[in-house]
Amino acid sequence: MRLILLGPPGAGKGTQASGIVEKYSIPHISTGDIFRKNIKEGTELGNKAKDYMDKGLLVPDDLVVAIVKDRLTEDDCKEGFLLDGFPRTVAQADALDNELKNLDCKLDRALNIQVEKEELVERITGRRICKDCGATYHIKYNPPKADGICDKCGGELYQRKDDTVDTVTKRIEVYFNQTSPLIDYYTKKNILTNIDGEQSIDDVFEDIVKALGSEK
Ligand SMILES: [Zn+2]
Repeated sequence: MRLILLGPPGAGKGTQASGIVEKYSIPHISTGDIFRKNIKEGTELGNKAKDYMDKGLLVPDDLVVAIVKDRLTEDDCKEGFLLDGFPRTVAQADALDNELKNLDCKLDRALNIQVEKEELVERITGRRICKDCGATYHIKYNPPKADGICDKCGGELYQRKDDTVDTVTKRIEVYFNQTSPLIDYYTKKNILTNIDGEQSIDDVFEDIVKALGSEK
């Protein structure tokens, strides 16, 4: 099964991705992870990407596409994959389509986890992280027993600097502006399924499994 997972920051994509790859035994391909791996292993593509990142520049489309293509030709992707964080633009989506055609296959489904902007802001700005053990909390949905203190280790909880209302709102707006053409793209190809992300983790997953019901 060849899948794409779309959804704004704070929509719970990571959690759902873990469930999907476990249930369907497919690799989770996150562009962030494969970039880090290529850079760490000093591959030619990794070195090129690092040059841009060291200069504080965005890695250009063709390089991102090349790194993803390279990953998709590995053995574990033969029966399928879950792509997360790619494609981000219609140009990347076209490049992916062409590459899959070359590999004699196609995407089965694009899952789009939907959560309203206000809800996303609340989810992200409410996050608190333990300085010592990294455990995560939410001031409303998963509060620690004592204010500002980690249940597990007694460490101090903090809020990530870029998790303020202003930066989160901007991040989400950038995401929606960038992604809306992709939603149209996959809708036209009849492979988009919208998933209501404002439910419990289990209910979201159940809807995903239902959406994938007839796929192999
Ligand atoms: Zn802790």
